[in-house]
Amino acid sequence: MQLTVIGCSDAFGSGGRLQTCFHVAHSGASFLIDCGATSLIGLEREGIDPNSIGTIFITHLHGDHFSGLVWWLIYSNYIGKRTAPLVVAGPAGLEERFIAAAEVLFPGASTTHRTFTLTFRAYRDREPLEAGGVTVTPYEVSHPSGAPPYALRFKIDDKVLAFSGDTEWVESLVEAARGADLFITECSGFEKPARHHLNWRTIEAALPAIRARKVLLTHMGRDMLANQHAVREPSVTFAFDGLKLSI
Ligand SMILES: [Zn+2]
Ligand SMILES: [Zn+2]
Repeated sequence: MQLTVIGCSDAFGSGGRLQTCFHVAHSGASFLIDCGATSLIGLEREGIDPNSIGTIFITHLHGDHFSGLVWWLIYSNYIGKRTAPLVVAGPAGLEERFIAAAEVLFPGASTTHRTFTLTFRAYRDREPLEAGGVTVTPYEVSHPSGAPPYALRFKIDDKVLAFSGDTEWVESLVEAARGADLFITECSGFEKPARHHLNWRTIEAALPAIRARKVLLTHMGRDMLANQHAVREPSVTFAFDGLKLSI
């Protein structure tokens, strides 16, 4: 499995980074985890053809995690001339929020004839869902976004990849990430409490219970970016746009 960080900023573009989007290539196919507004820009930078991606998994319904689907739609219709089906899995209510966002940003976009089939699938807490050749188990977390937010635990080939999504600390994160080969976790702050988000000190305290082989910090705000040097945990890597990790 190869992970490419397409974008890893918080909602504010801290550090001049693109919004959240991860590309995962595995033995059978490739998929995205989250699709922030800037995802097409990041894919273009990495030379990844959006038409090669069959599945997109969305953690929660904030614009910096799902609004790129709107640009994806118009790209697929007008530029990519996509014909392959696309499956988007996410919290219940995703399709309605997607249509609302599309109509605000590009009126008529949601009703224009599509060159491809777009299917939405809704998570149910802790129920494994199969899509795109992988199994994902969603764990509800805590992050107000108008629909339930989830951490995602993927079984990909013989590896486990977990992603926190955005959340404040909840015990379900331990279950979602326990023993993962790679745990990608949001780390919005360093040690000051970050409302509805995690900071490094909270993550550090939880690592012995989680026991992930590798931890990738993402969604870092300005304070965290300025304090990376203070993190000495050997299993931890810092995300940056374009980072590639083979798991
Ligand atoms: Zn976010
Ligand atoms: Zn969020």
